[in-house]
Amino acid sequence: MNTYGDNGNLLMLQYAAKKLGITCHTKIISLYEPFEENKYDLVFFGGGQDFEQMIISKDIQEKKEALTNYIENNGVMLAICGGYQLLGHYYVGANGEKIKGISALDHYTLSQANNRFIGEVVIYNEEFNETYYGFENHNGRTFLGKGERPLGKIIQGQGNNGEDQTEGVIYKNVFGSYFHGPILARNEHLAERLIRLAFQQRHGTELTLSIQQKS
Ligand code: GLN
Repeated sequence: MNTYGDNGNLLMLQYAAKKLGITCHTKIISLYEPFEENKYDLVFFGGGQDFEQMIISKDIQEKKEALTNYIENNGVMLAICGGYQLLGHYYVGANGEKIKGISALDHYTLSQANNRFIGEVVIYNEEFNETYYGFENHNGRTFLGKGERPLGKIIQGQGNNGEDQTEGVIYKNVFGSYFHGPILARNEHLAERLIRLAFQQRHGTELTLSIQQKS
């Protein structure tokens, strides 16, 4: 899926990787195509409207086992909004329909009546000492479960559910977020983090180059 320019994240990954001396090859995995869990170093799953999510929800059940294996084997992944929701148990859409996820992660997502969380959002991740900036536009209210920690704590905006001050998720090497923007174009340090993790997973060593951090 791809909404609000989420696929710009792929361009940003290519750009950041090039700065780090790495060439990326990108493959789009579409409906009815299998996900081959050992073939990829980094997986991106974009956001979508409820309609697209209903279509993807059915198809992704076929990919559930491979995706879960990829995640459990520490595969690196970035999932945005609708994609983030579908990695969890379910998302209750704006019309009350229950859209099934793959339960690879332990969160679930409820809807809210006659409201969406829309606007600029800023979060802080204490573990990495990093601040992330983005734009949110979602009906869903996500509640994290076992083994999941938030991508950051809300400084501005609504985040996962507008209640518990959390935004997004980190589970193993999976990063989920409601941030559009696209997230990586506005947060180059996060793009670098994903590439570093992917490199380490593939080669078992740390990447030596680094991108100069903006202050
Ligand atoms: N349809 C979902 C929601 O409204 C996801 C939206 C999105 O991906 N931007 O919560």
